[in-house]
Amino acid sequence: MAFQIIVDNCTVCGACEFECPNAAIAFADDTYVIDPELCTECKGHFETEQCAAVCPVPETCVPV
Ligand code: SF4
Ligand code: SF4
Repeated sequence: MAFQIIVDNCTVCGACEFECPNAAIAFADDTYVIDPELCTECKGHFETEQCAAVCPVPETCVPV
């Protein structure tokens, strides 16, 4: 399982990028995207998904 960023909700604030323990979040094509191959839903690192925890916009970092 992986998380995804809902592009229409993302304000491109960048808060999530450096919180990811797997460096799965990157800026591309004017928005931030999560590489599903790298996202582990933070398992083994944190109790909660860090991108969703820091994102100021509700329902923007959500499960695929
Ligand atoms: S859920 Fe965790 S591992 Fe997946 S993109 Fe968000 S911060 Fe990174
Ligand atoms: S924290 Fe949320 S609004 Fe900010 S760049 Fe990441 S997904 Fe977009």
